[in-house]
Amino acid sequence: MLMKKSLLVAGLFLAMLCAGCSGNNSNTPATGNDAAGISADTVTPEINATATPITTPEPTATATPAPTATPEPTATPAPTATPEPTPTLALIAENEWDVSDVDISDISPDDKLVAFTFDDGPTENYEVLLDTLKEYGMHATFFVWGNRYSDKYHDVMLRVINEGNEFGNHTWSHPYLTKISTDEVLEEIEKTRSLLEEITGKREFLVRPPYGSANADVKANVYFPMINWSLDSNDWNNGTYESVYEKLTEKVQDGDIILMHASYKFTADAVRDAIPVLIEKGYRIVSVSQLCAARGKVLKANAAPLGMKITG
Ligand code: ZN
Repeated sequence: MLMKKSLLVAGLFLAMLCAGCSGNNSNTPATGNDAAGISADTVTPEINATATPITTPEPTATATPAPTATPEPTATPAPTATPEPTPTLALIAENEWDVSDVDISDISPDDKLVAFTFDDGPTENYEVLLDTLKEYGMHATFFVWGNRYSDKYHDVMLRVINEGNEFGNHTWSHPYLTKISTDEVLEEIEKTRSLLEEITGKREFLVRPPYGSANADVKANVYFPMINWSLDSNDWNNGTYESVYEKLTEKVQDGDIILMHASYKFTADAVRDAIPVLIEKGYRIVSVSQLCAARGKVLKANAAPLGMKITG
């Protein structure tokens, strides 16, 4: 779809260039927008000239340019024509998140479920988080901030996957996706997606937009489901071990998706101590995809970020 669209736009652009060539060109060879504007103008006069040879061509040529406003698309293709930076963006089948091979074998329908999500990794706290999850046979989703990765995290990243957890895409450099260009949005998503593919062999990952921030343009361009949260641990907001522990043990409800950050040691410590309390209350800690699979929730790409509990 995306490729089709950009091919179409590139084609349109080429067509216009050619139309420009066949006329009286030779002026302003490559001045970006200017060049585009000129070729757009030359297109209609040419057509008018051949379509209505009888009527005085010149006046109509200058009288009609107003309708030329339609081929607007020329405004954008100019910069896009050459780079075409992200042709490999994976499209998920039917626009729906596939949970068919997500393991939910040890989740029973009576279990209360809570999805733990850890943003802004990889960090040195992954080890503690993984140790805790493994100890209790629980799982979580780790949203990766691509440019925080370095080789020293390679092994622990493999651990995340091998122990049944899930990676998500938290962009490459953590910008507000609402404040950057479409090409930059695509690049932010694709760079981290392909890093995660390199490490895990998987191609598709849920996306958490930095700051939970998305708008119509972001929705249109992010070809994966976006996941926000239903409960914020607030660890990022002057959080402490106590505040996170209290949130986890007192505020969690069935179906919650909890926002936490792998960047804080106190969060990892609070998680370690809160999990047995949650288990005592009948909870299982799961990844976002496990929560969706267990509850029959279908996630869609190109949609607003999910930001609510997933109950039965
Ligand atoms: Zn973040």
